[in-house]
Amino acid sequence: MTTDACRTCPLDTDKIRADFPILAKTLHDGVPLTYLDNAATTQRPRQVIQAMVETYEHHYANVHRGIHWLSDQSTDLYEDAREKVRTFINASAREEVIFTTGTTGAINLVARSWGDANLGPGDEILLTEMEHHSNLVPWHQLAERTGAKVVAVPVTDDGKLDLESFDRLLTERTRMVAVTAVSNVLGTINPIEQIVAKAHVAGALVLIDGAQSVPHRAIDVEALGADFLAFSGHKMMGPSGVGVLWGKRELLEAMPPFLGGGSMIRRVRLDGFEPADLPAKFEAGTPPIVPAIGLGAAIDYLGAIGLGAVAQHEHDLTVYAHRVLGELGTLRFFGPPPEEKSGIVSFVFENNRPHAHDIAQLLDRHGVAVRAGHHCAMPLHKRFNVNATARASFYLYNTREEVDRLAEALTQVQQVFRRRR
Ligand code: PMP
Repeated sequence: MTTDACRTCPLDTDKIRADFPILAKTLHDGVPLTYLDNAATTQRPRQVIQAMVETYEHHYANVHRGIHWLSDQSTDLYEDAREKVRTFINASAREEVIFTTGTTGAINLVARSWGDANLGPGDEILLTEMEHHSNLVPWHQLAERTGAKVVAVPVTDDGKLDLESFDRLLTERTRMVAVTAVSNVLGTINPIEQIVAKAHVAGALVLIDGAQSVPHRAIDVEALGADFLAFSGHKMMGPSGVGVLWGKRELLEAMPPFLGGGSMIRRVRLDGFEPADLPAKFEAGTPPIVPAIGLGAAIDYLGAIGLGAVAQHEHDLTVYAHRVLGELGTLRFFGPPPEEKSGIVSFVFENNRPHAHDIAQLLDRHGVAVRAGHHCAMPLHKRFNVNATARASFYLYNTREEVDRLAEALTQVQQVFRRRR
């Protein structure tokens, strides 16, 4: 197969790939690694790894505590990282940026802190059938604790939110709308501006799960007007163990602390405590210091390339992937048409043979890393009447050649299974 060159692609992928040591790896028999599992986690460039090594080797101490030279350096780097996040999402104040363990940690923080303080029987949390479990389970747990109810907007056959149902299900009982900006299975780009506007008219708050959108397309929280945004460092070339909760200042100020411990207090007595101001109020204990600094370096890296170019590159790969994989003639794809979605391509073979897990295992023999399973979205898979899909997902370092490798490997998988039958 010869690769059809992309004439309009904005990125120099050879140059970019040279920054990622892991992408040069070969597997057994010299087979190159084709890493197409970016929706699960991305790889990181030397610049990010180096920023973390540099911190450990030269600037590391605990933050905000020691009145000593090294602690000041580490605190400055940690707070610089917060400022980079603030600029990246265009938040109005650094106090609105809370470092968490990831998207999951951020959503749990809101469900526990805001949810426990504000919800009760008769209240509703409106989410969608395409949510990741981390934007479902914390709300179920909240419902169990408070007597509030979880309501879900259905997904259409072509993998979009059913907006008529959204309008019907959004009522005066809705207190929170929790929705993903981009589906981690379907690649659907949800109309979050419209959702925020309607939710606010109905008097509800909006939490955006940005795990699959913030790394790939620019977001401006000020312009969007949402109330909370959650995302993860490891899905945008940063390290694992760090993520972000952004929230509107007045909401965060009114919310009680979630975790208790050091750093999140102004004063502690034996009979009680006074919480610290933002953002410390929500950062109990020693925070993910070096991971946050690594995330700051990843934001620098993304900023130098430009999210517009990243989105355009991924769009090209997605459309190309649908074309070449579609030529196999035996795949069932999930989600909206490729022109309308993010860089995520989920599929099964017709009649589900071979099964998604077998697909992923056989692709692995060709060095192609994709994910198979329910991708932490069981209700969505049930909606489409499958228990697992195979998922290829792209990032800025992927190439059309890699998509061709996926297609070639899938052709061979198909042949192996035909022979076996
Ligand atoms: N939401 C979505 C849409 C995701 O894709 C993921 C990660 N797969 C998460 C939330 C959870 O992210 P994390 O595991 O980093 O907390």
